[in-house]
Amino acid sequence: MKYLFLLLVILVVIWAIKRSRIGDTPNPKNDTPAATPSNMVICAHCGIHLPQEEAVSGVKGTYCSTEHRSAAQDRNPA
Ligand SMILES: [Zn+2]
Repeated sequence: MKYLFLLLVILVVIWAIKRSRIGDTPNPKNDTPAATPSNMVICAHCGIHLPQEEAVSGVKGTYCSTEHRSAAQDRNPA
């Protein structure tokens, strides 16, 4: 009976440690969204929607490709 009580105490301590660890570390699933929506831009020449990181920037606006920037008689702003 003495050992049963000791076992129960150990189990409670383990449970308490596990519970406190869960409380300390926030759930990473709730912090980061599943899919980050990228900023969409429109090509000034053909009007297609594309992510901003894939867009080609010009003086007059953004384009889907360097060909369309040239076709719109625009140039690299840099
Ligand atoms: Zn285009």
